[in-house]
Amino acid sequence: MPRAVCTKCNVALKPETNGVAVAETFQGDTKIYKIWHADLWACPGCGMKVILGFADKPEAEHSSENLPEALLYLRKKFAKGEAYFWYERVHALGEKPTEVLEGGE
Ligand SMILES: [Zn+2]
Repeated sequence: MPRAVCTKCNVALKPETNGVAVAETFQGDTKIYKIWHADLWACPGCGMKVILGFADKPEAEHSSENLPEALLYLRKKFAKGEAYFWYERVHALGEKPTEVLEGGE
């Protein structure tokens, strides 16, 4: 189990959701590069959330044969609020390119 401590509250983070989907993007964050399975942790003090506990290998990559199934898994997780993006760069608030979930099958 990973250990993580909030630098603001100085307490250990706690697991919040086991089994979230993480979509790693590429090409200017317009395409899905890899789909990962990981866990969401949160600080019990300030609520800061962080994704830890990534699987050793991604569920799928952009060139994998199982990408359509993995995209379906990602969309279901996204609808449940259990999917996150791993962008190449920092985006301004409101600028997040979530359109990578549309099409692409
Ligand atoms: Zn905190």
